[in-house]
Amino acid sequence: MTNTKIAVYPGTFDPITFGHLDIIIRSLNFVDHLIIAVAVDTSKNTSFTVEERVEMAQAEVRLLNNSDKKVEVKAFNGLLVDFVKQQNSNVILRGLRAISDFEYEFQMSCMNSKLAPKIETIFLPASEKTHFIASRLVKEVIRLKGDISGFVSENIKQKLIDKFNT
Ligand code: ADP
Repeated sequence: MTNTKIAVYPGTFDPITFGHLDIIIRSLNFVDHLIIAVAVDTSKNTSFTVEERVEMAQAEVRLLNNSDKKVEVKAFNGLLVDFVKQQNSNVILRGLRAISDFEYEFQMSCMNSKLAPKIETIFLPASEKTHFIASRLVKEVIRLKGDISGFVSENIKQKLIDKFNT
């Protein structure tokens, strides 16, 4: 039996921001293998295709991989709990930004635990420096030609500029 702690961090990542990266980096204090699960099926109207969202996340986390820690990015379709089981994990990781996140996150974690009682959801509170960052807001700012340097990497900033033609 292996003691490797594997967690799945699901989301839309449209695109990945410094807020997501903060959660990812902090999770490596207690997780050995993190799988960032990019949702194919999402109720959100995404600006980037799933391939683009996966590729952008992969570029952001490449340097986090080392001999101790593994960070992977995978697209997933269908029920999250089924995907988590397929990855030999029993932990879903989510970030909590504000009280407004809580109601939805709590309801979703209860639903997932009904569907798969052995899978636990772990919440990490957003950091003071990144708690206000949301992919949706970053896209709104770039559309209005604002500076998004403090919210996403240079690579993601360029992808957003290209996408929104600003
Ligand atoms: P979803 O579409 O599932 O909300 P997101 O891509 O928006 O997915 O976010 C994925 C996860 O990352 C969620 O748990 C969300 O709360 C968390 N998250 C997003 N932005 C931040 C942030 N700035 N700080 C902490 N957690 C965040």
